[in-house]
Amino acid sequence: MSYARVLSVGLLGVTGHVVEVEADLSPGLPAVVLTGLPDTSLHEARDRVRAAVVNSGQTWPNRRITVNLLPAALPKHGSAFDLAMAVAMLVSAGELPSAALEGVVLLGELGLDGTVRPVRGVLPMVAAAAGAGLRRVIVPLANAREATVVPGMAVAAVDSLRRLVDFMRDGAPLLEPPPSDEAPPPPGPDLADVAGQEMGRYGLEVAAAGGHHLALFGAPGAGKTMLAERLPTILPELDDAAALEVTALQSIAGVLPLDGRLIRRPPFQAPHHTASSAALVGGGSGLARPGALSLAHRGVLFLDEAAEIPSATLQALRQPLETGRVVLARARGTTEFPARVQLVLAANPCPCASPAGDQHCTCAPAVRRRYLAKLSGPLLDRIDIRLTLAPLSAAQLTTATEPATSSAVIAARVVQARAAAAKRWSDGGWRLNAEVPGPVLRRAPWRLPPADTADLRESLDKGLLSARGFDRVLRLAWTISDLDGLDRPGRSEVSEAIQLRMGESNAR
Ligand SMILES: [Zn+2]
Repeated sequence: MSYARVLSVGLLGVTGHVVEVEADLSPGLPAVVLTGLPDTSLHEARDRVRAAVVNSGQTWPNRRITVNLLPAALPKHGSAFDLAMAVAMLVSAGELPSAALEGVVLLGELGLDGTVRPVRGVLPMVAAAAGAGLRRVIVPLANAREATVVPGMAVAAVDSLRRLVDFMRDGAPLLEPPPSDEAPPPPGPDLADVAGQEMGRYGLEVAAAGGHHLALFGAPGAGKTMLAERLPTILPELDDAAALEVTALQSIAGVLPLDGRLIRRPPFQAPHHTASSAALVGGGSGLARPGALSLAHRGVLFLDEAAEIPSATLQALRQPLETGRVVLARARGTTEFPARVQLVLAANPCPCASPAGDQHCTCAPAVRRRYLAKLSGPLLDRIDIRLTLAPLSAAQLTTATEPATSSAVIAARVVQARAAAAKRWSDGGWRLNAEVPGPVLRRAPWRLPPADTADLRESLDKGLLSARGFDRVLRLAWTISDLDGLDRPGRSEVSEAIQLRMGESNAR
C-alpha cells in the first residue's frame, strides 16, 4: 500500500473539526511535503515525526512522502496532528496494518525520542469527534482523564509511539485512562467570611441576581477584593452546555485541572492591571490561547486598580464586552473565543490611595474627577451598580457578633430571583434584568407608576443621574423586587436601587 488515511481533530477557536491526515508515498527524492493549509508550527512537525519514528525503532520510508490535511480550507495549528501524521506515513509505507485504526481518532504531540506528549484543547477536540459520530479516540496519557469527560467516547491512552505501533502490529494493549477524582472539590471562599460591609454584600447579591456589572470604589483595605472574589460563590452552577464551554476554554489555555471533571463553578479571573492586551484578550503563535477575558467566560472578570489600567488595554476590552466574543487576527484568517463575562471593577477614588481610615487625602476635587474619568467611556458606562465602600472601623470588626449570611443561603435567593426574571422576560428573549433594554422598562406594561419613581425623576432633574443611569436604576429596582419576591418594584425598591447607583457619584 502506498496510501493511508488517519483521523485527527483540528481546532478553530473553541470548535473542533475532524481532520483526515492522508499520506502518499511516491518514487522520487526523499522528502516530506505538507499540504492543506498548515501553519509554520506544523512544518516543524516533519522533523519531529521523522526523529520520533526512527527513535522508536521503525524504518523511515526513504521516498517522497506527501502528507495532506483535509479539509484543506480549515487552517491548522499546533502539534496535535503529530501522532496521526507518523502513523499515516508508516501505514502508507507498508510498515503497519491499518485495520486497528478504523474510525479511531488520534491526538498527540511527538517528542524526538518517540514519547507522546500532552496537547492543549483535547476536551473540545474529543467533543468534536463525538459530535461527528466517532466513538473511539487515542490520546496522550496526560490528557486521558480530560478526554473521558465527553460522554459516549471510548478513550485509550498512549505514552509513546512505540506503544501505538505494538498495538497496531500485534494487538498489544494500550493504556487505560486514570479514574476521575471522586473527592469533592475543596471549598472556596465564602461570603460568611466578610464582616460588616452590608452595602457591599447587598450590592454583590443584586449583581448576581440581575446579572449586573459592578463597580466598587474605596480606599485600599476596604474589602473590594474580598467581595469580588466571592461573587462566583453566589452565582448559579453552570449547566451542561456552559460547563463544557468553560472546561474547553481552560483545556485550550492549558490550565485545566487534571481531575477529569467538568468545571461547574463559574470561573473567576483577576488579571493584574499591568497585564498585556494579549494576556487579557488572548493570542500567541500556533494554537491561539484564550486570555483572561475568555477564561472568565460564564463567570467573573475582576479588574482591580482599574484606574491604573492603560487606555490601550481598556480599548481592547471594549468590543469583547459589548459582543461577548473575542476576535483574534491570525496569519490565516481570524480565531474567535467566547467571552461573556460579568464584570467587577474596583478602583481607589483618587491617585494618592490613602489607606483605609486615613483622612489625609490631599488630592484636589479636579484630580479625583480626572482619575476616574478615563474609565467612564469604555467601562463605567456599562456598569449598573456603583458602590463606594467605607473602610471598616475597628468597632465594626470587634462588635460583629453574628456570623454573616453564607454564600449558600444567598445563592439560593439568587436562583429564585433569576427564575422570576427569566419568566417575566421570556417573551422578549431576555434571561436577566441586566439584559433588558431601557425603553422596554419605560413603556407599558412595565412602566412604573409616577408615584413610585418620584425620587428617581428628582435625581435626574438635579443632574445626579444621567439618562442612562435612569434606566440602570430601573433595572436594579426590578432585581431588588425579584429578590424580595414582589410582582414589581415600589417606591422603596426604587430608592434602594438609587443607593446602589450613587457610589463615587462624580462618575455618573
Ligand atoms: Zn487622594
